Amino acid sequence: MNREQLAQQIIDTCLEMNALGLNQGTSGNVSARYQEGMLITPSGIPYSKLTPDMIVYVDENGVCEAGKVPSSEWHFHLACYLARPELNAVVHNHAVNSTAVSILNVAIPALHYMVAVTGTEHVPCIPYATFGTQDLADYVTEGMRQSKAILMQHHGMIAMEMNLEKALWLANEVEVLASLYLKVSSVSEKVPVLSDQEMRTVLDKFKTYGLKSE
Ligand code: 13P
Ligand code: ZN
Repeated sequence: MNREQLAQQIIDTCLEMNALGLNQGTSGNVSARYQEGMLITPSGIPYSKLTPDMIVYVDENGVCEAGKVPSSEWHFHLACYLARPELNAVVHNHAVNSTAVSILNVAIPALHYMVAVTGTEHVPCIPYATFGTQDLADYVTEGMRQSKAILMQHHGMIAMEMNLEKALWLANEVEVLASLYLKVSSVSEKVPVLSDQEMRTVLDKFKTYGLKSE
């Protein structure tokens, strides 16, 4: 896939993210691994106005191509690619249920077997740091080493997968899990969870299960 095609896929992912109700307005950002760095959405531009030439290349040292302003969160996107060399796409959004759980500052536990989409038995919540900072990127590195999807305290969610289609799929599943968590915890003080042993079984099955995408 050439640069223009990948840039168009990034735009399509942003549009679908908002259409799915996972995000509002210009919040959130999307990137894909490209050459030694990444292609990432520009900062603060409505997704409906994006064209492929507006997508920004940032290299592995954080140097951005001249004349463009990358997403304010380019630090944590780059941190994701360094933390997970086997994964190639990052979706960040302010999905309402995931953000609500992040405000409670709790991890989403194994309340449903689909938690295994993250590659682990919970969705971690990383500590708060100001948006767009290296401090936030450092917390993201720690979180991403544990899980392909994380909550960011008082902020939102990040999902990382092998490609953009799967990253968006993962983000949507995490939002459903967050919604389940809020529903169950509103009627029950204790959220029932699957056993560690059962989650090990499910995680094993997930090695060959999930969205089929090349
Ligand atoms: P950008 O428009 O700079 O990508 O910022 C959106 C966002 O969600 C910051 O966390
Ligand atoms: Zn954000």
